[in-house]
Amino acid sequence: MVKGTLFIVSAPSGAGKTSLVAALLEARPDLVVSVSHTTRPPRQGEVDGTHYHFVNAEQFLGMIEDKAFLEHARVFDHYYGTSRAAVEAELDQGRDVILEIDWQGAQQVRQLMPDCQSIFIIPPSRDTLRARLQARGKDSAAVIERRMQDAVKEMTHYVEYDYLVVNDCFEDALADLKAIFTANRLRMWPQHHSKRALLSELLASRCPNP
Ligand code: 5GP
Repeated sequence: MVKGTLFIVSAPSGAGKTSLVAALLEARPDLVVSVSHTTRPPRQGEVDGTHYHFVNAEQFLGMIEDKAFLEHARVFDHYYGTSRAAVEAELDQGRDVILEIDWQGAQQVRQLMPDCQSIFIIPPSRDTLRARLQARGKDSAAVIERRMQDAVKEMTHYVEYDYLVVNDCFEDALADLKAIFTANRLRMWPQHHSKRALLSELLASRCPNP
């Protein structure tokens, strides 16, 4: 069986990454999104084991010691990490896996798995980004400004990625994402395996009887 491909999706907060990945999964249920571990407390509506595995700092450090993470990083004020075993089990089953992680984690994964594909999502303008961050709640101007600075810092890493998607029109950005995943599936090596029956049938007729 051909192993699945590991995809990294990163974006500054406010670029619409989570909604795009959710829509992508609806369209392509065969894709798997890795559920990260984090020391951040759950937000309203977040479910343990679905959105994240919520753990305390001691548990997180234990997992680092056990080398249980493919990558881990401190993002803003909390720790986040990707379970190595969970990701490898899915890839070994031939499934494509998406990691929604930041640029620090992306750098670590690229070192370990150079065949991974990475996608960076950006908003269509600075004003749109600010408006999206403001629309999220009743944060003060100072908090919005800090989020803007964090977003700009994240965006300085865009060039390290294989693909750049601009999320202006949601449907267009989703189509771009689907195109990336489709093109990856159509590469010769995976096709050579998944279309084996068709190919041998086609090639068997090289010298058809008259
Ligand atoms: P949030 O707390 O808003 O869900 O995520 C904050 C940031 O942490 C986002 O940029 C998200 O991509 C990143 N993040 C989530 N999970 C992981 C992970 O497992 N590893 C790394 N490096 N970053 C993560």
